[in-house]
Amino acid sequence: MIDFSLTDEQELIREAAREFAAKEIAPVATKNDHSGEFDTHIAKRLAEMGYLGAILPDEYGGRGLDYRTYGLIVEEIGKADAAARTVISVSTSLCAVPIFKFGTEEQKQKYLPGICDGSALACFGLTEPDTGSDAANQKTRAVKIDGGWTISGQKMFISLGNYAKVALVFAQTDPELGYKGLACFLVPTDSPGFTAATIKHKLGMHASDTAELSLDAVEVPDDAMLGQIGEGFKVAMTALESGRYSVAAGCVGICAGSLECSIEYAKTREQFGKPIGSFQLVQDMIAQMVLKTETSRLLLWRAGYLKDTGQPNTLETSLAKLHASESAIECANLAIQVHGGSGYVDDYPPARYLRDARVATLYEGTSQIQKLIIGRQVTGLNAMV
Ligand SMILES: Cc1cc2nc3c(=O)[nH]c(=O)nc-3n(C[C@H](O)[C@H](O)[C@H](O)COP(=O)(O)OP(=O)(O)OC[C@H]3O[C@@H](n4cnc5c(N)ncnc54)[C@H](O)[C@@H]3O)c2cc1C
Repeated sequence: MIDFSLTDEQELIREAAREFAAKEIAPVATKNDHSGEFDTHIAKRLAEMGYLGAILPDEYGGRGLDYRTYGLIVEEIGKADAAARTVISVSTSLCAVPIFKFGTEEQKQKYLPGICDGSALACFGLTEPDTGSDAANQKTRAVKIDGGWTISGQKMFISLGNYAKVALVFAQTDPELGYKGLACFLVPTDSPGFTAATIKHKLGMHASDTAELSLDAVEVPDDAMLGQIGEGFKVAMTALESGRYSVAAGCVGICAGSLECSIEYAKTREQFGKPIGSFQLVQDMIAQMVLKTETSRLLLWRAGYLKDTGQPNTLETSLAKLHASESAIECANLAIQVHGGSGYVDDYPPARYLRDARVATLYEGTSQIQKLIIGRQVTGLNAMV
């Protein structure tokens, strides 16, 4: 049975994350959004707080937390700034989790401590210019050479791509094998032939680094492969199932942040001689935000409970990601409406919330792909083949 009450430890961890976010992240969120710079100091502080790789065991630099507690941290950081939240999601879910699950002991010792302490960030290179939702159709090619592999191809929209020291690169080893030929490689980003270029002019997430990666005959040794040939798709899906949970948690943060600032504004802003929050149509908008926030959080906590108890959760994680990401956009939009003209400028958080929330229905599986996963899970029929 799912118990939604938090333990004393979870309450403390949530409170610490809330305080940290309010003191160190929220005050610089708008400045970073305007400058469009990736804030390396915040990345370092997130690591010092133990938020990168928090669900990994202590021996690899993690904190041994469960998914529900991880979700609490991600919600609080996501409420303050989605760009900062991205550092946690990419480091923990997209990179550390697959290395921990599929890596050899040597690979784990080599990469996980650096991800957790922030000294050697990682990035996740799955998307390509011609390969997005159909992730199994990788064009990046890995060719066997003596003692290793040579990898060539392009990776598109890669978060932390300019700052990572190692990239998880998904590549095809034998096009005739289809997805059974896919493999994942741990590629040091200072390898000859590896370059990263910033993708500019995004709608939002301005302070989150996004890069296009080019691999031109990059050579890696045999022991750079994460998992086996044929396991590449499984490695990617394992990462994404954790990543979707993390994105959902960040979106709960945007929902909650939209609601909180709207309540505050509605109680203080006066029109017609009364606080606008006393008007029923404003309360309708606030009630909609409460509903979207609560339902998103409940779906997230259910997915977390299933992960923590080792139960299948593909359906529940996709439901949480789909609902929370769509709700985050809707809540940010409602919050702008509550704030009136002030919501349209960056004096208050809703405008940034809306720009940042928008990407959440695109990455880690678009909303359409989440619906196809949900449909497949309940009908047993796969529409993605
Ligand atoms: C800011 C940002 C950060 C990102 N970070 C990363 C990262 O770190 N690593 C990484 O690998 N990728 C990353 N991505 C890429 C992201 O995961 C992809 O953009 C996403 O998977 C969608 O792929 P696509 O853009 O190629 O769209 P497409 O797959 O071309 O989809 C276009 C449209 O067609 C729809 N569609 C596609 N197939 C179907 C179908 N079968 N049925 C119905 N509709 C369908 C989609 O839902 C969408 O609406 C990032 C993207 C952004 C914008």
